[in-house]
Amino acid sequence: MVEAGLDVARLNFSHGTREEHAENVRRVREAASRAGRAVAILQDLPGPKLRIGPLRDDLIDLRPGDQLTLACGEEEPGDEERISISWPGLPSAVDANDVIYLADGRIRLRVQAVRDGEVDTLVEIGGALASRQGLNLPGSTRGLPAVPHEDLELLRFGESIGVDLVALSFVREPGDVTEVRKHTRIPLIAKIEKPQAVAQAEEIIRAADCVMVARGDLGIELPIEDVPVVQKRLLALAGQLARPSITATQMLDSMVASSRPTRAEVTDVANAILDGTDAVMLSQETAVGAHPVEAVAMLASIAERTERELPYERWNEERVRRDARDPAYTVAHSACEAARDLGLAALLVPTLSGRSARLISAHRPEVPIYALSPGRETVRRCGLMWGVEAGSMPRCEVTEQLIRDAAQRALELGWVRRGDRVGITAGLPSGRPGTTSLFQIQTV
Ligand code: PEP
Repeated sequence: MVEAGLDVARLNFSHGTREEHAENVRRVREAASRAGRAVAILQDLPGPKLRIGPLRDDLIDLRPGDQLTLACGEEEPGDEERISISWPGLPSAVDANDVIYLADGRIRLRVQAVRDGEVDTLVEIGGALASRQGLNLPGSTRGLPAVPHEDLELLRFGESIGVDLVALSFVREPGDVTEVRKHTRIPLIAKIEKPQAVAQAEEIIRAADCVMVARGDLGIELPIEDVPVVQKRLLALAGQLARPSITATQMLDSMVASSRPTRAEVTDVANAILDGTDAVMLSQETAVGAHPVEAVAMLASIAERTERELPYERWNEERVRRDARDPAYTVAHSACEAARDLGLAALLVPTLSGRSARLISAHRPEVPIYALSPGRETVRRCGLMWGVEAGSMPRCEVTEQLIRDAAQRALELGWVRRGDRVGITAGLPSGRPGTTSLFQIQTV
């Protein structure tokens, strides 16, 4: 998968053991170093996700008209009449007539009565239900912790195995992101999958470092026909705020079983890129599918084809909301404009935190963006940003030297050739993150 184009490996902490995740980190790092590529590891925290307990035979079949009792705060193996939910707060979070979804929204229950510790429901839409599948309460947030303490424990574990990015599930408000930020310096990705989060999307995206359009749960929590327009709105907002974005779930779903995607899936991936997504994400396709490598290669070829058609000129002018208080936005915009006007071969972006590369990437220049950083984590994290290839370079405190070193390193890495005209950004004073204020055009 790394050789086929994987830039970021998501480890979904809703599944698997700590040992398995640690082993997966080791394997990704090994594959990346064998391929000579930087691959970031994204730890996806479960958040306040509700799940059913175990089932007696691991699988039951619910039929429309069945009565099903949800026994809350229990872990007893369930059957067709009674299943357990570990969260004791469920009875106070629902009222009679509310809807509860199971199994990724495929099964619909209607609440009939709420009793002490139990919720009686009627199965409206049936289907197969497996042990520990998800449970969704569209709209309701009553009594659910914003940041479960299990997430904070997993976060500490993630840091100990060296994850590069952390995604927060079921974010509802900006405070959910700032709360986790008190515990870590790893960049945070807000997964937008609740109606409350859609309503406060701008504030949440501003509080986070990146955003994920988590279409799986979004399509359960909101009417499914809202998903395409919400996706467009979130990706446009991410562009305005210069935050990298990820579009996730069912992108090439049929490739779980088939070696070719459907035309509709290929069009969906291309449309997400045309909407401005930085990354396209696979889930089942690579977690349990029969063709993981082909699925990654397919995403890469759709991306390469689609990117020939992006509205580069318009996006450079309009995509990012420039911030008059921060010159780095204007430097990024001008660098992209110069690259276009002067036909530069590339933009070289020395960066400590990755911020300069992020701002340039958000403007979507038509030329390659090469980020150079002394920080290995920064090099890997750049993989999430649209159009950025990153490499390492020693730290340098003197601006003139930094510019010379960047050009030299780009030559060594084979990114540019002698005689190429390139644009190079730099920070003044040098060596401090967030100070990019200079842009130089140079013939290498
Ligand atoms: C989603 O719901 O689309 C998503 C990406 O989250 P998860 O895979 O954790 O359910």
